[in-house]
Amino acid sequence: KRVLVTTAWLSPGDEVHRLLTDAGCDVVHSSFNDRDSSPATLAALVTGFDGIVAGTDRFSAEVIAAADRLKVFGRTGVGYDNIDVAAATERGIAVCPTPGVNRQSVAEHTFALLLSVARGVPGNVTAVAAGDWPQVSGRELSGATLGLIGLGAIGKAVARIALGFGMRVIAHDPYLDAEAVAASGVERASLDELLATADFVSLHIFLDDATRHLIDAEAIATMKPGAYLVNTSRGGVVDETALAAALREGRLSGAGLDVLETEPLPPDSPLRGLDNLIITAHIGAATVESRARSGRMAAQAVIDVLDG
Ligand code: NAD
Repeated sequence: KRVLVTTAWLSPGDEVHRLLTDAGCDVVHSSFNDRDSSPATLAALVTGFDGIVAGTDRFSAEVIAAADRLKVFGRTGVGYDNIDVAAATERGIAVCPTPGVNRQSVAEHTFALLLSVARGVPGNVTAVAAGDWPQVSGRELSGATLGLIGLGAIGKAVARIALGFGMRVIAHDPYLDAEAVAASGVERASLDELLATADFVSLHIFLDDATRHLIDAEAIATMKPGAYLVNTSRGGVVDETALAAALREGRLSGAGLDVLETEPLPPDSPLRGLDNLIITAHIGAATVESRARSGRMAAQAVIDVLDG
């Protein structure tokens, strides 16, 4: 059986490669990133493979139509909005993400962003490196209210850390009942209550038609003046033009984004040039531990499906 690996951080000779070859698979590595994986390039590549260990490349309906033998995607990650699942399902192709493997890594990175924006760390580091010594003033997390939109695997891990910091944690998740929320030591809130109350709002939901631009100009206008926004979920959940305006006008004190509507950050993005915004390059899950767990689980899913 032939397996294609497109996840950029996997390589020949690693544990995933060994797992697949030990299971009798013929493995080809060909990684892309969002800059050069055009549909035509990917479509030409996927022909003749039975399984794909997939990273963040876009597997559109057009690409999937060219995958003549494909039976399974093992997606090394949690979000699978880069794969047209409807097109895959129609052709009997299984899509297997790796849920839960990166919850701790993403939760910890959420705190890297929270602490960085609350204390202005990146700007201060840059100023010190340039020979200045500016005394920036920030705010404590302890005693502040953190509003989590989405209390799934990552949201719950963030809540655990936040409680350790002495934050009050409220969460909006329409699919969880009050007991499940309370079991996490968190208070349940409606979206409106959360936006109006939270000093820090952190997003932990999937991107779909219901959540696209959930945080738009209207939602931002109802946020507590001077609040902070952190997004480690998916860029499309936030209307970036509206966020940029709120940051420029100082209605929000700051924001930390690990994910963008278009990655990497386009040269003409409205998010450029804002000193109260920090952006990291979608590195939430990019730890040694998380990648090892994710690679193993995706490879095993491909092996299991191909073995029937
Ligand atoms: P999960 O499925 O465990 O949790 C998602 C939660 O959101 C669920 O509890 C669900 O009930 C809730 N939800 C759904 N719609 C909602 C809505 N409209 N409002 C509020 N809550 C809603 O998923 P997870 O593993 O916690 O992942 C969360 C997000 O993190 C996903 O978007 C995923 O793509 C993203 N992610 C980012 C990185 C990164 O590198 N930055 C890595 C992994 C995952």
